[in-house]
Amino acid sequence: MPHRRLTGPLVIATHNPGKLAEMRELLAPYGIKAQSAGELKLAEPEESGTTFAENARIKAVAAMKATGKIAFADDSGLVVDALDGEPGIHSARWAGPDKDFRFAMNRIQTLLIERGATSPAQRRAHFVAALCVAWPDGHLEEFEGRVDGAAVWPPRGDAGFGYDPLFLPDGHERTFGQMSALEKHGLPPHGKGLSHRARAFIMLADACLR
Ligand code: IMP
Repeated sequence: MPHRRLTGPLVIATHNPGKLAEMRELLAPYGIKAQSAGELKLAEPEESGTTFAENARIKAVAAMKATGKIAFADDSGLVVDALDGEPGIHSARWAGPDKDFRFAMNRIQTLLIERGATSPAQRRAHFVAALCVAWPDGHLEEFEGRVDGAAVWPPRGDAGFGYDPLFLPDGHERTFGQMSALEKHGLPPHGKGLSHRARAFIMLADACLR
C-alpha cells in the first residue's frame, strides 16, 4: 500500500513528558501541531502487546478512537542482550510507580554483575522506538528505529530522560545523558539520525512528511 501524507493537527498518544517534548521537537520542523493524550486527559490503554510495534499500535489506535483524530504513538525501550532482552517493553515498568530510573539502572547493573557481564562486549544494549500513526479510517503507518551501544557503569550525565545516562551509543564517547537533544537525535541536515526515535522518525518523515 502506498504511504499516506501526514498533515496536522494530530494527537500524540503519550503521557510521558520526556517523550512528548522529543516528539514535539521532531514534528515542529514540519509545521505539525499536536496535542497530547495527557493534555486531553485520555485514559492510558493497557500495553498488552508483546512487541514494541504492537504496543505503539495499541496506543495510537486507542487515542484515534477516543478523539476521532489522527493519532501518533511511540513505544520504546532499552534492550540489554545479557538480560535476555529485558527491560525491553517493560522499560517504563522497571522504574516503578515513582518513575525512578536511578533504581531501574541500578537493577540493570546488579543483574549484569550477577551474570558476570563486566566487559563492554558483555554489556551490549540497544534502544528501540516503534512509531505508529493511526488515521480515523483505519489506515496505519508503522516504522521502527534502533541504536546500538553498551550499558556503561556508573551512569553518566543528567541530560535527557530515562536510561539515557546508562547508554553509550557505538562510535561515541559520551552517553545519551551527556548529549544535548540536538546531538542525541543527530537529525538532518547536520546528522543522519542517531537516537532510535530520530531514526524511526526520519523513516516516517521520508514516507509521510516530504
Ligand atoms: P513506553 O514507550 O512509554 O512504554 O516507555 C518506554 C521507556 O523506555 C521510557 O519510560 C524510558 O524509560 C525508556 N526510554 C525510551 N526511549 C528512551 C530514550 O530515548 N532515552 C532513555 N530512556 C528511554
